[in-house]
Amino acid sequence: MIYADNAATTRMSDAAIHTMTTVAQENYGNPSSLYGLGQRAKEILEKAREDIAAVIGASPREIIFTSGGSEADNQALLSAAEAGRRKGKKHLISTAFEHHAILHTLQKLEKEGFEVTLLDVHEDGIVRPEEVEAAIREDTCLVTVMYANNEIGTIQPIRRIGEICRRHGVLFHTDAVQAIGHIPVNVADDNIDMLSSSAHKFHGPKGVGFLYVKKGAPLFNLIEGGAQERGRRAGTENVPGIAAMATALTEINAKREKNAADLIPKRDRLIEGLKEIPHSALNGDAVCRLPGNVNFCFEGIEGESLLLLLDDKGIMASSGSACTSGALDPSHVLLAIGRVHDVAHGSLRLSIGEGITDEEIEEIIRSVKEVVAYLRGFSPIWRDLQSGKRKYIL
Ligand SMILES: *Cc1c(COP(=O)(O)O)cnc(C)c1O
Repeated sequence: MIYADNAATTRMSDAAIHTMTTVAQENYGNPSSLYGLGQRAKEILEKAREDIAAVIGASPREIIFTSGGSEADNQALLSAAEAGRRKGKKHLISTAFEHHAILHTLQKLEKEGFEVTLLDVHEDGIVRPEEVEAAIREDTCLVTVMYANNEIGTIQPIRRIGEICRRHGVLFHTDAVQAIGHIPVNVADDNIDMLSSSAHKFHGPKGVGFLYVKKGAPLFNLIEGGAQERGRRAGTENVPGIAAMATALTEINAKREKNAADLIPKRDRLIEGLKEIPHSALNGDAVCRLPGNVNFCFEGIEGESLLLLLDDKGIMASSGSACTSGALDPSHVLLAIGRVHDVAHGSLRLSIGEGITDEEIEEIIRSVKEVVAYLRGFSPIWRDLQSGKRKYIL
């Protein structure tokens, strides 16, 4: 079995599992309780906050624990919008290839009377900072641009976008769910006001994440209730999950450079191998991308069938994003970089992670070549392309 779907989720690390189970067994107190057991849980929570803050260059008071990346994205956008509304600023800027946690929240805000500008991401899957600057208006209350794309892995010029936002006095949020733990991220150096992250994308548990909010930036709570997280996120804290998230982040951060140095040549070999398939194309810039991300389009096939046949061969991958696969709509990310519907349907995302071997990379290349050839063998579209009835796009 080869797991090549780390952008969808990662396996929890042994250390994170150890932390999670030990905390659950030994420190089951409620952090809001005054007796020792509760206070020890509180200490674990605050230690996790310190450890996480240290990794991204924040101060602990700027970290709010959430149920994951989606909640952090929702809270960041709705907070910035509410602060904007109070000042009569109802314009937001984002990009066409954000995660649905961002895009759907923006759609909700549009229904409430906000105006949203979605920037183009160009064929290389990269946002141009000067286009962000040109879109900023007097009434812009937020710019939100993802750090790295979850489908095509392209890394955005976040530091330059942050610098532009700061110069114009506009709040800047980034969905860094795919970046944290995989590439260097520092909220101070990158001029970030708000940042979303999720533990299960860096070998921590599912259902837990955090939102960084720079001191002084607006933050409103989505969930009403108790005074946890200094009144900005009610509900008894997921202490074992939060502690395990801190363990996972500290662990991955310590070996981040080593992991990247190990993965990049494997990623590039995978790209080189798959490029040998005729009428195929890499999606997104080849260099400015996450160490583990490979995303291809193959003309004349269906991504879904490709996935099922790869699964038969023990290879776990993805087509489009996990949230859209199952639906027949092609990926909004691939459409955003200009792939036409037919081509976007034949996409494959391989997101490799720590521990994958060179032999496994070769096995993936062999299997994808076999499966693409097999599927093309009975694809009516492929037959039309071959006979010249239809023109090749790739
Ligand atoms: C996975 C992901 C999310 C959602 O995070 P959850 O913790 O699963 O809610 C948001 N944004 C990006 C870019 C992601 O990859």
